[in-house]
Amino acid sequence: MIVIKTISELKEYTAKNDNISLVPTMGALHLGHGALIKEAVKQKNQNGKVIVSIFVNPIQFGPNEDYNKYPRTLTEDVNFCENLGVDVVFVPSACEMYGIEENQKDNFNFSNNYLTYVCPPYFLVNKLCGKSRVGHFDGVATVVLKLFNLTGAKKAYFGQKDAQQLFLIKKMIKDLNLNVDIKSIPIVRDKNGLALSSRNKYLDDDGYNKALIINKMLTKVKNLYERGITNVKILFEEAIGLNNDNMIDIEYFEFIDFNNLENTFEAKENTLVAIAAKVNNIRLIDNLLL
Ligand code: AMP
Repeated sequence: MIVIKTISELKEYTAKNDNISLVPTMGALHLGHGALIKEAVKQKNQNGKVIVSIFVNPIQFGPNEDYNKYPRTLTEDVNFCENLGVDVVFVPSACEMYGIEENQKDNFNFSNNYLTYVCPPYFLVNKLCGKSRVGHFDGVATVVLKLFNLTGAKKAYFGQKDAQQLFLIKKMIKDLNLNVDIKSIPIVRDKNGLALSSRNKYLDDDGYNKALIINKMLTKVKNLYERGITNVKILFEEAIGLNNDNMIDIEYFEFIDFNNLENTFEAKENTLVAIAAKVNNIRLIDNLLL
């Protein structure tokens, strides 16, 4: 496995290897990322190569978000990738990625209007996570398109955990006629049902126990739905009742038609039940696809 830090080295590599599968990540890798990587390695064909990118993308973080505090565990991440049979780990710096001289970086505000952005349509962005994270999905779409261009990936692996991101990436591919085949991977959870997330590292015991309510709410919806209850008002109220003591600070708890991201009043196949909540000030997301 090789570790590549610069765009020129990456281009040299991809010029010789045109059968690339890409797994974009922000690092602090866990078994959720592992599921994406394992699938990419399993599905690669004979001359195929798997590239995992590790890049905490400044332009997808808002000014009051955790860009500086986001966990960075590069040595462990590189070992993790090597053990899973990855061919290349691409770890650019922010300056490398956005073409800024290192000595200029203090003058460059990553959230200003200096760059050409990819902006998914507002009606799909201004909901769920995009509602509170203004500009987030413009930053995501921009960096993902750059990674597609830099790697020439034929396949790319994304987690269902970031459901709105997955939807918007597929939309970008369709709208911009990109030749990338998107593979989505189900949410990986720990033994108590908490969706794995790099941000779980911030949870103490109290936060961890509170965070379990998120999956309990989703499981409640699933069980009721499987018993034939499809009325969203009922499903919503039954599930939200589990947070009676306001143990978690719910940002949204919505029932969405995953064909078009519209809210739905009747749960059915392909309804996305999506939650974002702050637990002791740590923002977590989770969802269930019916
Ligand atoms: P991140 O490093 O958080 O940007 O995540 C990189 C990729 O891993 C995204 O496509 C995520 O949806 C995916 N991912 C993160 N956590 C999980 C999980 N628990 N299960 C499945 N995929 C995940």
